[in-house]
Amino acid sequence: MTAESPSAPCRASIEALVREALSSQLGSRAPKGPAPVLVVNSSARHMHISPENLETLFGKGAQLTVHKWLYQEGQFASQQTVTLIGPRKRIIPNLRILGPCRNLTQVELSLTDSISLGIDIPVRASGDIKDTPGCYIMGPKGMIEMKNGVIRAWRHAHMSPADAAFYGVKHLDKITLKVTARDCTTRFDDVLVRVDPSFKLEVHIDTDEANACNLDRADKVELFKN
Ligand SMILES: [Zn+2]
Repeated sequence: MTAESPSAPCRASIEALVREALSSQLGSRAPKGPAPVLVVNSSARHMHISPENLETLFGKGAQLTVHKWLYQEGQFASQQTVTLIGPRKRIIPNLRILGPCRNLTQVELSLTDSISLGIDIPVRASGDIKDTPGCYIMGPKGMIEMKNGVIRAWRHAHMSPADAAFYGVKHLDKITLKVTARDCTTRFDDVLVRVDPSFKLEVHIDTDEANACNLDRADKVELFKN
């Protein structure tokens, strides 16, 4: 298993300084200038929640409290967990909520979770929940029915405008992640680029993807434009 907590920057975290000469495989597509520090983290299954839904599940006036700060500024794994009940009555316990609260309640699971729940969960960019499955969520003080909002998160790269300029990409472009580990090398195409001035350079893949490339034991991680 990969790290238990979402985006845990410890075991699942790989920091690769790519300041040294870029791989000859990149050839003429190699980015120019000093490379920013690239971090790749796995996102364990988790939930984002609206303040209203949080109150329903945890009681009036409930607030998310910090379990662990994540790499992106201000984001945290909260101490609050819930139980997910799928459309076929199968259950995922201890689903962690990420903070702070958002406008939209959304659950992000892996393909393995989708198989164990027995439902088809599409890959979507965060927030794009139209025509996605729903579920019930049970908290200590109540329950909510989500009509939709259960997704597999599209693998993505958070970038500042400077990072995007370095890689020669723009918001919503696709980029390739190469993970070199002791056993073999894995490439992930179609990594969605998300650019925002508040972002630190970080790639998020889910636990299935992290296990597939042995991210915990990776020697090197690189991003490059196709
Ligand atoms: Zn992310």
